[in-house]
Amino acid sequence: MAATLMDGKALAARIREEVAAEVAAFPRAIGLATVLVGDDPASDVYIRSKHKATIEVGMEARDLRLPADTSEADLLDLVAELNADDAIDGILVQLPLPDQIDEGRVIRAVDPLKDVDGFHPLNAGLLLAGTPAHVPGTPLGVLALLDEYEVELQGANAVVIGRSDIVGKPVALLLLHRHATVTICHSRTRDLAAEVSRADVVVAAVGVPAIVRPAMVKEGAAVVDVGINRTDTGIVGDVDPAVSERAGLLTPVPGGVGPMTIAMLLRSTIRAARYRTKELAHPAA
Ligand code: NAP
Repeated sequence: MAATLMDGKALAARIREEVAAEVAAFPRAIGLATVLVGDDPASDVYIRSKHKATIEVGMEARDLRLPADTSEADLLDLVAELNADDAIDGILVQLPLPDQIDEGRVIRAVDPLKDVDGFHPLNAGLLLAGTPAHVPGTPLGVLALLDEYEVELQGANAVVIGRSDIVGKPVALLLLHRHATVTICHSRTRDLAAEVSRADVVVAAVGVPAIVRPAMVKEGAAVVDVGINRTDTGIVGDVDPAVSERAGLLTPVPGGVGPMTIAMLLRSTIRAARYRTKELAHPAA
């Protein structure tokens, strides 16, 4: 029997409606600033969709663009301005940044309260400590999808493929906090197929088309495909679509995790506004 497809597009649309209602009820305007350095076409597409979604939910969007040869000092000055700007609740600096800029330094420069991407080491540490504040949008989207489809996480064997700071590690921590037994796989994992075959929940965040094949997957598993790979035949994920013949649940690409990332970013921006009005306490503020 074919897997049920986890419809991220529909869930994301619902979350965006909820966010729009919260924005309308909020006592003041909410502002999100996005910063793009250079003209990488993929980054431009992401920024444009984030900008459009921000405006659609009634937030104020500031779309800041800097040339590819911007110096680190100039970018840090802009981040400092945004940190001090009362009209800005959330700041998102689109990665990757050009080579002359130290990404880590820029990430650390963003006010942790406004760090809607959750990349600041303080927010990463709070997640590790089990008292999360801002968490990256993609991992939040993965968990929201698993919850929407009522996937049992407590005690489940969860295998996360990928250990990046923006997807793999935070997803693994979120699953661990939900009492899954978590295995993190990466490029040095000896036998990926053996690890995946034990999983009740698989999250693939690799960037390699169809690295998860049907024979690796346990019958009935929930499989979340984070991958976005541009190929000659269009955008494909990290999971071979034929996995649908073995999995119980599967996210499509596109239309699975992708739309969730932006929805969760919008939710994080509301959260940032609540930290700033002190309606919510940021654990480190
Ligand atoms: P990344 O930083 O390049 O990390 C990729 C991870 O995959 C690394 O940990 C790497 O291991 C591991 N890996 C590479 N080859 C492997 C192999 N053959 N076997 C096992 N593990 C392997 O990528 P990322 O930023 O996490 O993104 C991962 C994918 O998700 C990409 O396709 C990206 O486009 C997509 N993505 C989608 C969204 C969304 O909204 N849907 C958001 C973010 C990213 P090492 O650490 O050992 O190198």
